[in-house]
Amino acid sequence: SLGRDPDVTLITPSAPIATPTHGGRAKCLQRLVRLDLPVPRTVALGFETVHAIATGGMPDIEWILGVFKPDALICVRPSSEDPDWGGPGSVLNIGMNETTHAALSERIGAEAASALYMRFVQAYAIHIARLDPDVFEDIDTTGSDGLAEALRLYEEEAEEPFPQNPARQLSEVLSSMARAWEGTTARLLRQAKGAPVDAGLGLVVQEMALGLGQGECGSGVLQLVNSETGERQITGRYLSQSQGREALQRGQASLYLESDPRGPSLQELAPEAFEALKAHAAFMRERLRAEMQIEFTIENGQVHILDGVRVKRTPRAALRIAVRLAEDGIITRQEAVMRVEPRGLSELLHRQVDPEAERDMIGRGVAASPGAATGRIVFSSSEAQASAARGEPCILVRRETSPEDVRGMHAAVGVLTERGGMTSHAAVIGRGLGLPCVVGAARMQFRQKDRVLVAEDGRRFAEGDTITVDGTAGQVLAGAPRMVEAALDDAFQTFMSWADAERDIGVRANADTPADAATARNFAAQGIGLCRTEHMFFEADRITPMREMIFADSAEDRQTALARLLPMQRADFTELFRIMEGMPVCIRLFDPPLHEFLPSDRAGLRDLAEALDLPVSDVTRRVESMGEYNPMLGMRGVRLGIAVPEIYDMQARAIFEATLVASREGAPVVPEIMLPLVSACREVELVRTRIDAVAAAVRNESGRDFDYSLGVMVETPRACLRADEIAQHAHFLSFGTNDLTQMTYGLSRDDAGRFMSDYVQQGVFAEDPFHRLDSEGVGELVAIGVERGRQGNGGIMLSICGEHGGDPDSIAFCRDAGMDYVSCSPFRVPVARLAAAQLAI
Ligand code: PEP
Ligand code: MG
Repeated sequence: SLGRDPDVTLITPSAPIATPTHGGRAKCLQRLVRLDLPVPRTVALGFETVHAIATGGMPDIEWILGVFKPDALICVRPSSEDPDWGGPGSVLNIGMNETTHAALSERIGAEAASALYMRFVQAYAIHIARLDPDVFEDIDTTGSDGLAEALRLYEEEAEEPFPQNPARQLSEVLSSMARAWEGTTARLLRQAKGAPVDAGLGLVVQEMALGLGQGECGSGVLQLVNSETGERQITGRYLSQSQGREALQRGQASLYLESDPRGPSLQELAPEAFEALKAHAAFMRERLRAEMQIEFTIENGQVHILDGVRVKRTPRAALRIAVRLAEDGIITRQEAVMRVEPRGLSELLHRQVDPEAERDMIGRGVAASPGAATGRIVFSSSEAQASAARGEPCILVRRETSPEDVRGMHAAVGVLTERGGMTSHAAVIGRGLGLPCVVGAARMQFRQKDRVLVAEDGRRFAEGDTITVDGTAGQVLAGAPRMVEAALDDAFQTFMSWADAERDIGVRANADTPADAATARNFAAQGIGLCRTEHMFFEADRITPMREMIFADSAEDRQTALARLLPMQRADFTELFRIMEGMPVCIRLFDPPLHEFLPSDRAGLRDLAEALDLPVSDVTRRVESMGEYNPMLGMRGVRLGIAVPEIYDMQARAIFEATLVASREGAPVVPEIMLPLVSACREVELVRTRIDAVAAAVRNESGRDFDYSLGVMVETPRACLRADEIAQHAHFLSFGTNDLTQMTYGLSRDDAGRFMSDYVQQGVFAEDPFHRLDSEGVGELVAIGVERGRQGNGGIMLSICGEHGGDPDSIAFCRDAGMDYVSCSPFRVPVARLAAAQLAI
């Protein structure tokens, strides 16, 4: 760069170009230059220079122009640090004016020269001079009449003749692109894609290969894999007499690349160029160690490579591509494991509506993000968060979504919008999150204010009603049709086995039902880390004996109710043990906020009165007397176990009897029993004594022996602080970070959704602490719990079972703290396995 500003430099094999200073495109072009590929001359402008341009500065334009042939046309393209962050559109054909037009007319013919000039005038008018695009709408874009008309219209609208000076053209283009990057909309868009606030933009100025002219000329893109599936397949488009990305424009009769039954192909038209392109792409794949999409121009039969970018890919394709690269020896298995974003895995993992199932379709829209999900309707993001906090799957129904809804989308299992298409906010974010999503369901009515969704056939669905979003078919269904589990192909299994080979922390699943346990096994969870037994009692046929038990007046009545519950629980646990085949199963004893089991309306009270054969007034009085001002801090967890010990006795018996049944059938079972909401060591002692007694009784009655371990859920701040003495009575500690977060912040997990977005937006919390473990506050308590737990009991097993167990950043924290395993919802198990593997590499 002749001792000039190193931030403005000709791309040569040794030029000082790096991604963090000049952007990914500049760096990639340098790699292509190093590979000696036919890349046109290119000057890279670094972030500093472009930022200076945006604020009024300008590099030495004459020097830049001097790098290129005197009559060459040039283009400017964006070069952000990560190509996914986007950037302003490229501007082509800079340098076009009367003189170059005349020279080019000689070289490539008047028609092609005029076409190039006209394109530049239009692009300049719309993107640089910011004239109304409609002005040029009716121009005939072929022939020189069109050019004259375009120049006349430009002059009329811009009130000056079309600028002829290439230096002026270039500097206007540069400042327009630099300013566009710093605009608010562009900034918000890229931040949504993960870019930092101060992300920089580089620009590259490149000499153009002309896709218009004599001989075979044209442009296109080519890649060696299918972007959706990652399968080997030459894909791309080519258009004769075109430039830039015109071949990709909708409605263009562009050519396929390889001979294709759908139409003529480049392979047939220009076989040598096609072979050269394939060879270049294969060479780039090998040397750049990634599948690349190449952007090329053919000028009179000669291939020019304008750019190479990593091929766009779905998570499914990313995984297959990484596996294939490793199998071909181009990258290592570890590198392959690092190449797939853990959160993206969920797209592969979603269930779909069973093709055989009945579909009660209530609306149609764009199939924007694959997979199907069933949940209750919510109309706002805060409702979605509240619903998620209650553990109720929900479908977020919005006219359209905005960045404020991202948190709600995180909390929902599916999204439905009235407006939008494949690239609308909901669609883009939905796919990013692997969240089933249907957008543009315009024939349904979204009465947000009345909280009603009206189906295409006029049926009304209120907030709380259950619907299913089928993001694969683009349909909205009433109710909950039968689902099939995700198809996990060979590439997925291979990839996950490579990840598991690296991983050094266990991954279990939170599973309450046989279906959950089956999913957990399917995803190779190493056991169940949390079975929430109260969830086993929400079903209609079970809630009544449960209520009878809660309502029992005397010890005798309670025993009768418990005797009805015992076989149900025994069957539940037997089934779980069977499915898990000897893997650890950690069963948490009842932790119900009691009010969740009590009827809340008149009809419910009447039903209960009937079942108990009591007057409604009696039942009402009992329900009222059991009411708590703050049930989440009331008679929950081990407190219930101490106050009404028969419940835990029954559960312990069910667990032990199931252990005997399952052990007889298969691998010996060693159940793990966990006590919730412990805050004092004496609680553990009291419950432990009774459970030991139940174990002794079951051993006696059956004449058979078995082992079990007893652990404590650490989910109150006091349990963290007193972990030393608590650990002396426990085989394991499992951190329940949902409640621990609630109690540490004094922040209701059921109500936080209402103001969480305000808090995050205003930077009070960097992230929702119920999603990502607050490593500073809650994390310090966890660290204290870990340390003191180990002091009390050197051999104690440590884990996490709050929702954070499936969040990659929180997993990093748990691994650093030295935990033995994390436990998360079944669908996040592969995500956790991959995240944990990446931490170990
Ligand atoms: C927790 O509190 O972190 C936990 C796992 O238990 P639950 O969510 O059932 O309260
Ligand atoms: Mg809890």
